[in-house]
Amino acid sequence: MFKALVLEQQDKQTLSSIQQLDESTLPEGDVLVAVDYSSLNYKDGLAITGKGKIIRDFPMVPGIDFAGTVIESSGSDFSEGDKVVLTGWGVGENHWGGMAEKARVKASQLVKLPAGLDERKAMMIGTAGLTAMLCVMDLEAAGITPEKGEILVTGASGGVGSVAVNLLATLGYDVVAVSGRPENTPMLEALGAKRVMDRSEFTENARPLDRQYWAGAVDTVGSSVLAKVLSQVKYEGAVAACGLAGGFDLPTTVMPFILRGVKLLGVDSVMCPLAKRNEAWKRLAELLPESYYEAACTEIALEQVAEQAEAITRGQVTGRTLIRLK
Ligand code: NDP
Repeated sequence: MFKALVLEQQDKQTLSSIQQLDESTLPEGDVLVAVDYSSLNYKDGLAITGKGKIIRDFPMVPGIDFAGTVIESSGSDFSEGDKVVLTGWGVGENHWGGMAEKARVKASQLVKLPAGLDERKAMMIGTAGLTAMLCVMDLEAAGITPEKGEILVTGASGGVGSVAVNLLATLGYDVVAVSGRPENTPMLEALGAKRVMDRSEFTENARPLDRQYWAGAVDTVGSSVLAKVLSQVKYEGAVAACGLAGGFDLPTTVMPFILRGVKLLGVDSVMCPLAKRNEAWKRLAELLPESYYEAACTEIALEQVAEQAEAITRGQVTGRTLIRLK
């Protein structure tokens, strides 16, 4: 038997409860993992509260990411005792996920932990950190180097944003964080932000083209904030867009693209190919300083997840939230 957070649906409402389940109820897969840590992402918040249509088949164990230890594997890629991390692939959405003491998944979905990361550190990074790294890698591939100018990070005190601030600062970029929560300014500065701007400066209607401020940006918010950012990106700059915390619309014009050569780079971590994931995890292990693991992280038990899920959908969670299962 093992403990799991289980989501069920009744009268179109999503209900969550902690249950003891038998191993035989786990879905099919070739690797059985003892989950040490999962984490709470914005998408988990939407799934657990039922505010987003993330889950279609119930009952479901949520948790779009986890890190743990292989218990058994029917293939040759993994053996008992291997330390692994999983993010995305629809796990926690259409296949039982990480908010349980055990998970059974496909070997092709697992990444072996690179040197320098243990299970706890891997989940402090989690889907959010992986996504931040993918954004940074895409900006680098678009030729955005530190000497080109300041890089903006929106939704900066969230999971993706806080890691993006830290990674970019570690790589030598001048990072300007955008946050709706002034009380998080000291944390963002400690993570490496050169200065912090208030979100309200990015929410009024954007003109098609504004003054050129930013060499690049990581946007986790979407909607009018992304539109404003695009109107302020310098000639041949680039924006890595990965989120919709402020909405999924994009009220912009083609002007930044056709008059300034601005590039809008879409970033997806869910179906990201394994080779790029392995590269991203390796770089995360190398780049994130020890101080990252001491700041901007809260650890909770499975019993506290429902309450925190509600908070993350209201934009009230700061940094990363770890769920301890071992
Ligand atoms: P968090 O909730 O931790 O962070 C989002 C941040 O956005 C908040 O902390 C807040 O930062 C800001 N924010 C919240 N609500 C609003 C609002 N209404 N308007 C403007 N800003 C707002 O979420 P994550 O960091 O986990 O995820 C961020 C986004 O990225 C989400 O939309 C998520 O779905 C997406 N995502 C996408 C992935 C992909 O593969 N493409 C993978 C992972 C996440 P502050 O208070 O500092 O302003």
